[in-house]
Amino acid sequence: MRVAIFDKFQKLAAVREALEKHHVRFLNIVMEDISSATEAVIDGKTVILAGTNNYLGLTFNEACIQASCKAVEKEGTGTTGSRMANGTLSGHVALEKELSDFLGRDKTIVFSTGYVANLAILSTLVGPGEVILLDGDCHASIYDGCKLGGAEVIRFRHNNPADLEKRLRRLAERNTNILIVVEGIYSMMGDRAPLADIVALKKKYGAYLIVDEAHSLGVLGENGRGLAEEANVEDDVDFVVGTFSKSLGAIGGFCSSNHPELDLVRYASRPYVFTASSAPSAIASTRAALQIIRSQSELRLQLWDNARTLYKRLQELGYKVGLEPSPIIAIRYDNIGEAYAMWNGLLERSIYVNMVLPPATPDGAVLLRCSLSAAHSPQQVEKIADAFALLRNSSH
Ligand code: PMP
Repeated sequence: MRVAIFDKFQKLAAVREALEKHHVRFLNIVMEDISSATEAVIDGKTVILAGTNNYLGLTFNEACIQASCKAVEKEGTGTTGSRMANGTLSGHVALEKELSDFLGRDKTIVFSTGYVANLAILSTLVGPGEVILLDGDCHASIYDGCKLGGAEVIRFRHNNPADLEKRLRRLAERNTNILIVVEGIYSMMGDRAPLADIVALKKKYGAYLIVDEAHSLGVLGENGRGLAEEANVEDDVDFVVGTFSKSLGAIGGFCSSNHPELDLVRYASRPYVFTASSAPSAIASTRAALQIIRSQSELRLQLWDNARTLYKRLQELGYKVGLEPSPIIAIRYDNIGEAYAMWNGLLERSIYVNMVLPPATPDGAVLLRCSLSAAHSPQQVEKIADAFALLRNSSH
């Protein structure tokens, strides 16, 4: 019997229809105009953006824009080819060197996005017969990379070194390669991995360790190198994965390592070979942004100032925020209706935050995810907090 190709989407379509009926707008948000790192026009109205990953506000940085424009004029709008063929321009090679230099590592590979970097690294480093031990809250790109490579995947409980050790102990007699995967700052809840404990276990059981610093690069560490720097364990992290789409304000991804064999991934990895490389403009602005991360630590301080201010206000107002301040502040709701009322109320008061539903959230949570930027002015942070205060009062 013939099965129509879209039949399997019926369940998804029903969920979407129900959401659209009651919560129309959050599925159909269009940024009609973007005027700065912190402001956009939605439904004809200027709103403050408090739900992006623009942690340092560099998307509108003058040096980044200039570098990007110059690259378009000099090198064109796209590379039209894979890194392996005609898509490696001198800018890609220079950025790999600059990232290696910044992170103090021997080798870096630049990929087309952070998603592609995780696909490439996780599908290539380990395969059938080997084991990936990943934190249960890891990003979808990590899960997808695991699937593509065919290694055995075992999840351990989020940020729970005791659970990780239990699994490592069980695997000890297998005598196979084990790759542990964690994130610097987790994208939804904004919490950090307990990296010192995880490093101790990695050493004890002879495993390898990847840290995805997507949300922590430029955000944590005295020099902005991420959680590994902050936790003082950089030498014990085998592979750092990251993205250009957050603090660096563009699009692209990378992996850095001291293992000299990292370059072999280029030849073995389908996500490196079979997709076009990042556009020259994105590479050029990322290089400029990296220089700014290196030279302007005041941006990081400003980001944390903003993050602490909003966290404290929301905590005082009685919102269910995470355990510690972070540039990502997530508020949990018991159901979609409540979260949507809040999200919509904020938008009516010209504040945009992310509303996030499972499976993008851990433990089936319904979240409002706020994120701060160094580019938020104190007045903007105040306005965000005031909108939350007003809605708190009106819901009582
Ligand atoms: N890793 C993590 C932890 C992420 O949160 C994301 C994006 N949200 C990615 C990787 C993918 O990055 P990109 O947007 O560059 O594809």
